[in-house]
Amino acid sequence: MDLSVRDITFCKNVGSRRADILRKELKVVTALDLLYHFPYRYIDRSRFYRISEIADEDTAVQIIGQITEYHSIGVGPSKRLSATFTDGTSNIELVWFKGVKYVKLELNTPYLLFGKPSLFNHTWNIVHPELTPMSKVKPEMTLGLEPQYPTTEGMKRAGMTSKGLRQIIASLLPDLRAGVPDTLGADLKAKYKLVSLTEALLNVHFPKDTASMQRARERLKFEELFYIQLQILRQAKRREKNIGYPMPLVGKKFHAFYRDHLPFELTGAQKRVLHEIHGDLKSGRQMNRLLQGDVGSGKTLVALLCALLAADNGYQTCIMVPTEILAKQHMETVSRMLEGTGVKVALLTGSTTRVQRGPLHEALRSGEIDILIGTHALIEDEVQFANLGLCIIDEQHRFGVKQRSRLWLKNEHAPHILVMTATPIPRTLAMTMYGDLQVSTIDELPPGRKPVQTFHYTFNRRQSINDFIRKQIALGRQIYVVYPLIKENEKLDMQDLQNGFNQLCETFPEYRISMVHGQMKAADKEAQMQRFVQGETQILVATTVIEVGVNVPNATVMIIENAERFGLSQLHQLRGRVGRGADQSYCVLVTRTELAKPTRQRMDIMVATNDGFKIADTDLKLRGPGEMEGTLQSGTPFELRIASLVTDGQLLEIARHAAKDILDEDPDLSSDMNRIYKHRLDILRQSGQANMLWGEIL
Ligand code: ADP
Ligand code: MG
Repeated sequence: MDLSVRDITFCKNVGSRRADILRKELKVVTALDLLYHFPYRYIDRSRFYRISEIADEDTAVQIIGQITEYHSIGVGPSKRLSATFTDGTSNIELVWFKGVKYVKLELNTPYLLFGKPSLFNHTWNIVHPELTPMSKVKPEMTLGLEPQYPTTEGMKRAGMTSKGLRQIIASLLPDLRAGVPDTLGADLKAKYKLVSLTEALLNVHFPKDTASMQRARERLKFEELFYIQLQILRQAKRREKNIGYPMPLVGKKFHAFYRDHLPFELTGAQKRVLHEIHGDLKSGRQMNRLLQGDVGSGKTLVALLCALLAADNGYQTCIMVPTEILAKQHMETVSRMLEGTGVKVALLTGSTTRVQRGPLHEALRSGEIDILIGTHALIEDEVQFANLGLCIIDEQHRFGVKQRSRLWLKNEHAPHILVMTATPIPRTLAMTMYGDLQVSTIDELPPGRKPVQTFHYTFNRRQSINDFIRKQIALGRQIYVVYPLIKENEKLDMQDLQNGFNQLCETFPEYRISMVHGQMKAADKEAQMQRFVQGETQILVATTVIEVGVNVPNATVMIIENAERFGLSQLHQLRGRVGRGADQSYCVLVTRTELAKPTRQRMDIMVATNDGFKIADTDLKLRGPGEMEGTLQSGTPFELRIASLVTDGQLLEIARHAAKDILDEDPDLSSDMNRIYKHRLDILRQSGQANMLWGEIL
């Protein structure tokens, strides 16, 4: 039966409970969908290691040896079992935390040991190893490449570990061998020397050998990148025809502000990006531009100047930001700068009351208001503009795609779009994600900034950290202390935050401390925040609600607790909250003592550099392999199933060319030969896999 219509529920070893989980966690509905769930790596079961050869924590190893001693520790549920395993070259510790009573060990019997070593207290050990008596080892266990599949916690609980998935997928092989319809045309396969889809799927899951596995992966990576590019380039072609409101004038409002109200000289980079943006605004075509610039590089000012250009041409602007606090802060900054210019600004957030909304709506409809600053309340609300011409979206990564697309409906044509982000995007990622999006970069900070100094402390050096806090406060400065908040264990995190707050209160009875977190009422949050902004409190304890954009120049110390749990770009964003005034600022990363290698690398790069671009590159490099750790947590805004933005840059260019060649000849993909591509794009779109791209909504 055709695998693409075969419901996964009815496949061998699945059933309705597992099918539910597969659907929810992997979006797998059909048997073919599951075949597109690729191994993240292969373990070479034909290779045997000696214990003395073990060199890193990332490679699972297979060793033949014996147990010389074992003992259990503790009682009841916390009982552990520990054993010493030797192969004559050295020893390794084996540890079991779970299911201890089922583990049966025999001394001086040859075993085949398999597992991933880790270093603990300077000795190698393997937690929950696979241990098989040599007498029971079947030849196929030690042959060839064994695929390892990414899984989620939910999948594991339902027995769909990597091994479980291997069994399910293996049972699909007979039908797969009968052949599946290809997703690439014969000419394309010939031109780029790609194997058929059937062969690729067979060899990606159960490779005959390394060479056929590599050919399979190359073909599947090509397919993935090719369809993304096809999608993006088609969208781009369509968008070229989008009319944009023409804004040729540089008029009174802009000039008056520039001459009389600009508090400082623009940096060279600010001038350059402004020029690029103005080029788009006057072109008559709709602008889609990404403005990237590190934290503190002065994007707000650029946004304001763009809004003035729009106003000079008779258009309104909305500036959308992710949080209420940030909206208020922008409102204050912008209205202060605009004082005396006659340009009208208004604020709309979730806490704007019904009574306030009435006149606000009216003023927007009449065109009296030039600039509207707000949170997503601004799109959900039924506001109508007299003539919305420009949308500026700040800190874009916080907005969902759906939310953004609603902005487009506020005027006859789509307004010009400027997306501002402080998280620079590496080139390969930009090409894949945005493809056609224009990018402007502010690569220069305003003069006179002192780079933030960053330190990495382990939590057992609390005393030094506290001393440091005391010294800085004595100098009149303020301190942020930030805790991670992760959805999955929000409760525990809140406890961390509360404990942290209590401890600080105990340690510093002489200081006043505010606390903010996402679960507080907006008004309370705002009040706590304001106390800190006004300098009434010296310390602000917070979850990441402060991550984006707040500006308190007197705060010079950013302490990030449990820093190991933050991603690099988040750490960098948080650090950007300090270093905004004239004083030397500091960032302290507090972690536990034993860190996995990638985590240590994250801390090291943070200490070593303040350059957001370097950090973004490292992030991608570290996350590349990180994404393959065997748990699904996509770091990128959309999921790449098999290609890697770190290592497949070249293949990406080739796939892009292939897509471009086809579209140049047949933009609608209507020829017989190209129908296959159109069909596949439709399927991808229906399954929601293409929607994650920007292109889809513009
Ligand atoms: P971000 O790019 O992170 O949004 P902001 O727009 O908040 O940065 O700017 C950070 C700070 O730098 C603000 O206090 C702003 O007033 C100041 N600033 C912006 N441009 C300049 C400039 N050309 N010269 C000096 N200070 C500037
Ligand atoms: Mg900003």
